[in-house]
Amino acid sequence: MIPVDTVSASQPAVKLSIARRGKRMQVGIIGMGLIGGSMAIDLTAAGHQVIGISRRQSVCDRALARQMVSQASTNISAVADADVIVVCTPIAAIFTTVMALIPHLKAETVLTDVGSVKQPVVAAVASQWPNFVGGHPMAGTAEQGIDAAIPQLFVNRPYVLTPTEQTPPEAVARVIQLVDALGSCLYQCDPASHDQAVAWISHLPAMVSASLISACSSPSPEIQALAQAFASSGFRDTSRVGGGNPELGLMMAQHNRPNLLRSLRQYRQDLDQIIEAIEQQDWSFIEATLSQTQRDRPKFID
Ligand code: NAP
Repeated sequence: MIPVDTVSASQPAVKLSIARRGKRMQVGIIGMGLIGGSMAIDLTAAGHQVIGISRRQSVCDRALARQMVSQASTNISAVADADVIVVCTPIAAIFTTVMALIPHLKAETVLTDVGSVKQPVVAAVASQWPNFVGGHPMAGTAEQGIDAAIPQLFVNRPYVLTPTEQTPPEAVARVIQLVDALGSCLYQCDPASHDQAVAWISHLPAMVSASLISACSSPSPEIQALAQAFASSGFRDTSRVGGGNPELGLMMAQHNRPNLLRSLRQYRQDLDQIIEAIEQQDWSFIEATLSQTQRDRPKFID
């Protein structure tokens, strides 16, 4: 077992440092899209035996052609002997995927997932499979599907595990070995705290960015054409997450609804204050706000 500084599930997120070592594992990946495919690439490169599962033979053929996996199958039972299985489907399909897997598994098989919301997933899956460790790699692009899979997507990115007090430590250790092979920065916190935190820095930005793109479609066709021609790096940065996979944003809203609503309401309040200050020509408020946000941004971004 890899020695790690384990933390109580009720403590705030703690960054864990771990030794970069571990035995070769057989890893099953269900859903070889952006996240599952990218994970397969790096785990294969790290020397693990990766078996990929897709519902489509064409995706299995593509994964083998790209040498992302050692084996690929449309039959979920192909991962029956895996040490750890990573469910990389959309959030709404995680539970049904686990239920389809369970009849094929040995009791010691460790399951994990990559869903962007943790509390409902962990509650549902852990009740059916105790050797389950919720996980969320904090990395992505605006693309989806196997052709979006790229190497090193997770290197130096946060990877959050959300074990509960009931999660077996051996299961956590095995998933940590996998996270370590991806070169990610490991964090651990309880599922509810995870969902609250990502509502602010991931799910709120997705909705804000979508609203930005939507608002930019309101001017006249002539001005829109000019705006589209002039859009450059600033618009690229601020629109990226709103212009990504719509299914992902929808699932964030559906599965993390109360936390997302709280962050959106706070955001609307902050925006209203800015609108009011501009209307009132309260430039000192605007200057103070922008100076504060300039100081605060590095707390979130390296
Ligand atoms: P994706 O590129 O669309 O890949 C998901 C894959 O899951 C698809 O390629 C599909 O593979 C399979 N799938 C789709 N619907 C399914 C169903 N009903 N049952 C079984 N398999 C199904 O999406 P992704 O961006 O990799 O997201 C996958 C997971 O990662 C989600 O849970 C998401 O919350 C999480 N995540 C995403 C990001 C991000 O930025 N994109 C970041 C962190 C975590 P086949 O059609 O080949 O079977």
